Amino acid sequence: MKTLSKSKFVSGIQCDKKLWFDFYRKDLKLPTDDQTQAVFDLGHRIGILAQEIFPNGKDATPEDYSNLKPSIGSTQKWISEKVETIYEATFSAKNTFCMLDILHRNDDEVWAIEVKSSTSVKDYHFTDASLQYFVMKNAGVAPDRFFIMHINNQYLKQGELTSELFTLTDITVQVLANQDWVAENLDRLLKMLEIEQEPVLEIGGHCSDPFGCDYAHHCWKHVPAYSVFNLYRGGKKGWNLYEQSILKIEDIPDNFALTHFQNLQRNGLKNDETYLDKIAIKNIISRWEFPLYFFDFETIFPAIPVLNGTRPYQQVPFQYSLHILEEDGKLTHKEFLANPEDFSNGENPLKQMVEQLKKDFGDKGNIVTYNQSFEILRLKELAQRFPEDADFLYSLVERVVDLLPVFQGGYCYFPAMKNSASIKAVLPAIAPDFTYENLEIQDGGSASSLFHQSIENGNFTDENLRENLLKYCERDTLAMVIIYQFLVKVI
Ligand code: SF4
Repeated sequence: MKTLSKSKFVSGIQCDKKLWFDFYRKDLKLPTDDQTQAVFDLGHRIGILAQEIFPNGKDATPEDYSNLKPSIGSTQKWISEKVETIYEATFSAKNTFCMLDILHRNDDEVWAIEVKSSTSVKDYHFTDASLQYFVMKNAGVAPDRFFIMHINNQYLKQGELTSELFTLTDITVQVLANQDWVAENLDRLLKMLEIEQEPVLEIGGHCSDPFGCDYAHHCWKHVPAYSVFNLYRGGKKGWNLYEQSILKIEDIPDNFALTHFQNLQRNGLKNDETYLDKIAIKNIISRWEFPLYFFDFETIFPAIPVLNGTRPYQQVPFQYSLHILEEDGKLTHKEFLANPEDFSNGENPLKQMVEQLKKDFGDKGNIVTYNQSFEILRLKELAQRFPEDADFLYSLVERVVDLLPVFQGGYCYFPAMKNSASIKAVLPAIAPDFTYENLEIQDGGSASSLFHQSIENGNFTDENLRENLLKYCERDTLAMVIIYQFLVKVI
């Protein structure tokens, strides 16, 4: 009989076939991508920080994951010696094994603690905690209480990190209530794995809930890359159409209810049709007052705050780009990029940014953004942080206008945009030669993670990084200028 780890059990709860592939078709599994690796790395870092809240524990982390016996033996020995805290406490029973982040003896109680990087307990946390409890109980160490230790999103960093960064949520009741469910599913999954034949299972909502699946490229190969599942804000429509054997957007019948944007998608594919509502576009952009300030922030949003006065996952601006377009067509560029070292050396990079904003913005003219709520929120947060500059920052907020509704509202649509109104989808449709492809940094996520790494490094991680970040952010606001100028020309 096969043996299941906690993650394999979770895999099987999501989808039998996924678990079966984990054992019999590992060749199909895609290599871990950068984003997934970043999630693993974050989990590891948070795990280490959590250990500092329960310090001086014995570490049972296996040296060789193909042989858990030494870790299981050490765990049992330390438990019998009443060691206060054990990290990666390892247990095995009933063809399953698991490693618990922290096993802690609190007076007379034994606490099982699983550490998560989320800011709340998610449904799928109950699945893996319940399995862990099951294994521990059957290994003879039923904990008295089971906790999820997650990030406290109300924590405000002031100097050194403290234990307040974490919240301990007691889920013992839910874990106990799930024990029969765990036993039944474990039995079912282990039996399923005895059959060396691929389970017959259709694709469904389970393919992305609660996690994306490494085998989607295999199971979904009959579905086109751009399909009914890519209808803009399609919700259940994709599955509804799929059940009627309609996979391509262009095959959606005329009597199927679609939103305006979804109709544009279908017409775009069927007839290569571009859509322009000149009156609506004019209503949006013709009232904007020159000079126009095309403005964009780049931010980091670290799980573990890096700047005093910020909270976990808070969006913290570190850079902006500003293109100023005069009525006569003259274009100038301004920019700001913080020094990574200023996030930890007592300087205040946000104050430096505000001082630069004061120099770069004149007192009249609209501020053009792409998704205004993001820039407005950052400006308001800066105003809260620096009351002495609040009047200035709120005066900027009042001048903000937005290019996004032109595309999100479906007033301008190109088939090349597919199901997206993002600037990265719109720009190539309008100016195919003006791309991000010749840039080292091509998206905001990379800019954010590279700057975050630089803060942790104490300086830019690469000698060209400063220049590459500046080029990327500049491209974003220049793209907005190009899109704006295109719209002016067509209305
Ligand atoms: S893609 Fe869907 S059906 Fe295929 S293994 Fe993954 S979850 Fe299961």
